[in-house]
Amino acid sequence: MSSRQESNNSQYDIAIVGGGLSGILLALRLSRESHKEHGKIVLIEQQPQLGGRNFFSSPLNFSGKSCEEINQEILLHSSQCQNLSGPGFEIMNVESLNAMLRHILSHLTEDEKNQCEEFMNRLEENETDRRSRCFFVKKDFVSEAQLLTGSSEILTKREAELLRSFAYDFYSPHLDSQEENIERNNTLFEKSTQWNELAKGSKETLSSIFSSIVGPDWEKSSFIYVCKSLWVFFNNFKEPLPKSFKRKMGLELFIEKILRARGIEVRTLCEVLRVNHNKETNFSLILADEVNPTHKTVQADKLIFAMPLVQCLGIIAKEEFSPEQSRFVSKVRPLSLVVSEISDFLSVRSENWPENVGACDRLLFPVERVQGFLTCDGRLLFSTQLDYEDSLQAPAVREAVARLRRAAVRVLKAEVAEEIKKGARMPQNKISERIVLVPVAVSIPNNIPANIEVKETKMGIKGLFCCGDSFLSLADEPWKRVVASVHDVMLRLNGNEA
Ligand SMILES: Cc1cc2nc3c(=O)[nH]c(=O)nc-3n(C[C@H](O)[C@H](O)[C@H](O)COP(=O)(O)OP(=O)(O)OC[C@H]3O[C@@H](n4cnc5c(N)ncnc54)[C@H](O)[C@@H]3O)c2cc1C
Repeated sequence: MSSRQESNNSQYDIAIVGGGLSGILLALRLSRESHKEHGKIVLIEQQPQLGGRNFFSSPLNFSGKSCEEINQEILLHSSQCQNLSGPGFEIMNVESLNAMLRHILSHLTEDEKNQCEEFMNRLEENETDRRSRCFFVKKDFVSEAQLLTGSSEILTKREAELLRSFAYDFYSPHLDSQEENIERNNTLFEKSTQWNELAKGSKETLSSIFSSIVGPDWEKSSFIYVCKSLWVFFNNFKEPLPKSFKRKMGLELFIEKILRARGIEVRTLCEVLRVNHNKETNFSLILADEVNPTHKTVQADKLIFAMPLVQCLGIIAKEEFSPEQSRFVSKVRPLSLVVSEISDFLSVRSENWPENVGACDRLLFPVERVQGFLTCDGRLLFSTQLDYEDSLQAPAVREAVARLRRAAVRVLKAEVAEEIKKGARMPQNKISERIVLVPVAVSIPNNIPANIEVKETKMGIKGLFCCGDSFLSLADEPWKRVVASVHDVMLRLNGNEA
């Protein structure tokens, strides 16, 4: 343990920047009893709570409040299902969530696991768990079964047959077909015979569905990636959401409590603006801390960025990246996700809203290339992916917001829809709408050349590392990249490779 820590409060052995899934896992691993030799650790997160990309932009006002007060308020709001922040884990696929939970629990002691169970059991589960379904919205609501059998206004029988084939015939999650999958991985979708032999009309109709599901430039992705995305869309969301990940459970607040109890300093509502490096102080982090505004800097011997590499760019000079990482951030622009949330949706939903469409069901608007998600607490989230943007004012983002609103018009009450159509704005007196830009959406694009990828978690200076889901070669699913990169950082920290 560093001897400086007793004399200087803002001196740490390890600083972790980012409290998303990778920051959480790393902090849990570093603070396990067997790893206590890592010394004094700080975890810095700019949002009011941990959890990362899925918990962005809380609408609550926390200025002047302490961390305890903030957490209490978040917990209260989530249990009352009011004004919740971000989509939460509800929109990640259930398999990923279960895997993440297994990893998180594996770093807890028996006693902490019991505390976790107690924490989760504090709320009675009255909701009946229903499997989520998907509806396609054009003029009417079309169920998945109607779409896939060609008995709707959206697809003809032939087009439905083609969609079924792309979604089910080529990708299989089972190992025995991996070889074939790898072979198909090398073909771009737009160059595949299966796509090129289709008639122009079928291509046009299917394009809007593929684009809504797979994201921009989907045709430049590998054939198998497109088929896999379709397979995942039609299969993976059907299981009920695991209890621990329901928003009102506040899993991320429980984890924060555990980390604090283990001696990690967790600083939420604290943004790292800049990192300077010199031989004397090693890493000096310049902060904008809303909870403790006078705390403007911290020093750390080792620094780990637990966030997408591209987001480290404004914080640390590009020269401090490794050559491979630097090439990656120059060449690969991640995707962005624009989300618009209507918080009191149930009171303004369309008179034609079908009774069988309910919580956790997904909507897909093929004309607008927008996805919708109805949360357990009656919020409707519209989202669409676009090429990387970091400003809400960017023309591409404004165009995306206009599409989100056109999609909303299809499912809102006639009187509200009319008002929006006139002014293309949400009438704020009737609807509470929030628009959020997530700089990195589900993942980085999948059409990047194979020779541009990040394998190394070690950055360009001694003691500097990064982890998260930018590490293409470590594993294919984003959560696997998070786990594998955190593991890699741990090995390096333990092996004193820093
Ligand atoms: C809609 C959606 C659906 C998804 N579905 C899946 C899925 O089904 N399966 C799957 O495996 N993955 C999925 N993902 C991807 C998954 O969310 C990410 O892989 C994962 O969240 C990455 O975690 P992370 O900790 O690396 O990054 P993040 O979650 O982005 O966490 C980084 C954290 O750093 C903080 N931060 C950034 N800059 C600063 C700063 N300067 N100072 C302080 N803090 C800072 C951010 O606030 C954030 O909390 C999905 C993502 C989205 C958006």
